[in-house]
Amino acid sequence: MIPKFTLGNNKWNLLLVIIICTLIISLITLYGIRLNEDIHEIAQEQFTHQQLLLSKQISTGIEEFLNQNTINIEILANHISDTPPGEVIPDFINVYYHSRGIYVIEFINESGVITMGYPLEDIPTGYDLYEHEQAYTFEKARDNQKTYVTKPFLLMEGGLGVTIWSPVYEGDEFKGVTLAIIRLSDISNRFLQNYDSTEEVYVVDEFGTILCGSSDRYQAGENFIDTVNGTNPLLLQILNKQMNGSEGTGYYFESNTSEKKLAAYSPIKWRNRLWSIAVVSPQSDVDDLIYSVYVKQVGLIGLSGGFIVLFSLSIILLLTRWNKSLELEVASKTSEITKSNELLKRANKKLMELDKLKSDFVSMVSHELKTPLTPMKTSAEFLLQSDPDVNVRREMLELIVRNIDRQTRMVNDMLDISRIESGNMRFRKEMLDIDEIINSAFETMKKQSEEKKINITTDISPGLTKINADKDKLIQVFVNLLSNALKFTPDGGNVEIKAFESGKYIEVDVKDDGIGIPPDKIDKIFDKFYQIDNTYARPYSGSGLGLAITKSIMEGHGGTIRVESTPGEGSVFILTFLK
Ligand code: ADP
Repeated sequence: MIPKFTLGNNKWNLLLVIIICTLIISLITLYGIRLNEDIHEIAQEQFTHQQLLLSKQISTGIEEFLNQNTINIEILANHISDTPPGEVIPDFINVYYHSRGIYVIEFINESGVITMGYPLEDIPTGYDLYEHEQAYTFEKARDNQKTYVTKPFLLMEGGLGVTIWSPVYEGDEFKGVTLAIIRLSDISNRFLQNYDSTEEVYVVDEFGTILCGSSDRYQAGENFIDTVNGTNPLLLQILNKQMNGSEGTGYYFESNTSEKKLAAYSPIKWRNRLWSIAVVSPQSDVDDLIYSVYVKQVGLIGLSGGFIVLFSLSIILLLTRWNKSLELEVASKTSEITKSNELLKRANKKLMELDKLKSDFVSMVSHELKTPLTPMKTSAEFLLQSDPDVNVRREMLELIVRNIDRQTRMVNDMLDISRIESGNMRFRKEMLDIDEIINSAFETMKKQSEEKKINITTDISPGLTKINADKDKLIQVFVNLLSNALKFTPDGGNVEIKAFESGKYIEVDVKDDGIGIPPDKIDKIFDKFYQIDNTYARPYSGSGLGLAITKSIMEGHGGTIRVESTPGEGSVFILTFLK
């Protein structure tokens, strides 16, 4: 039995590939998630860094703007000290237009009265600070002899503003104060308006007061600390750091929406003031930023997953096909091997049969060749040693001749069969009367039939069509059949030869009432060297070649031979010749 080779059940192949696919896709997904976390972290870091840079940029801008204006006012103050009062107006105008952030410039004389300024229509000339109890900052600038910047306050015309008080000294003599007002709305317009809807910017002072902001939620003048009022500790933390003048980043959650906000803050240092600017963005800005990366990643995972699935499917398909073709090949090879096994078995059986045949043949031939030698030798020796009378001598010589005939028949049979097998049997055909042939055979066997007291009768239809045949060969056929009939019919039996026309044929039946042939042996008796091995037939001599030669001769004449027999009742050999 040849083991059936398969690559494994297709179902298992499929399951294996599905498991491998799932594993690979899970690994890619896990790796993607881990990568996303990293990307998220890096993006957030980068984002807050950008925010901080932006806040620094804005704070630097505002700082420069404020300091520049302050310096301008101080220069003006210095200049006023050594310029006659009547000639300073052009300087005021000059500073006003070059500063481009100063709302109004005034000069307050040493008594605290506003004496001049620009633009003229906004100058309350003659306004006395002492009369209105507003000389506190005036005196602070005078006494400290350096510029003083106020806290934001409400301007008369609305909005918040801060003032820069720069004292004017001529030597040690106090001449007055140059005052400039800067509107916080100007700072807001100048520095805080260019941000998109999600990003917000606000400026607070060292007390937490909101100075300006990029959106309406930051009400200038409101105190941010009070607004937060302990409800948002994270924002409070940020505000405290801002009020300390720190620079940094942080996050907090919006009180009402719980939205996460990222903040970056930088200080604005301006003389005696410490302001701080903060840039605030919602966390969603970072998420949006990496969303596209996510989309690309999901796409990539999908694509690789799809590719893996496709690849695996192709492999399954390939394996299945391979498997199938292998199975087919194995099946065809198996059937080939089974067939050749069958052939080998048959050949082996045939060989064994041949071997038996060969042994049988050797023993038969040696027996058949040897048997006649003994009577021949005994008879010859008897003739040599004694001098018998004529009758005895004749009997002895006849015995010798019979045995020589027997041996000759045997040798002739063997020569015939060898000619038949090598295809060298030649037929010398001529038109013959069938009754002539039968009679010749009958004559040949007559003596033997008389010895066994077997009655041979012939029944030949008159005027039978002549047949084209080899005379000697055909006589041999009938002699063989008669010889067998006599051999296998007990003494006193009957043998009948019938010849008649039957349709296109001439049929000759050789019938005896002898021992008959068992049904299972009927097909074999025409095989060469075959002899029925039964107790009755055994004593008869023979080569087992007679019927094989007879059949070949019949076939050589285009005729047929078959036998019908009943054991114990007799046999009839039926021959047909084509007319
Ligand atoms: P042989 O007669 O030399 O043994 P054959 O080929 O002529 O060989 O016959 C083969 C066998 O067929 C015989 O040995 C015999 O057993 C059987 N057989 C032939 N003719 C008859 C017959 N008329 N009756 C019974 N058996 C026969």
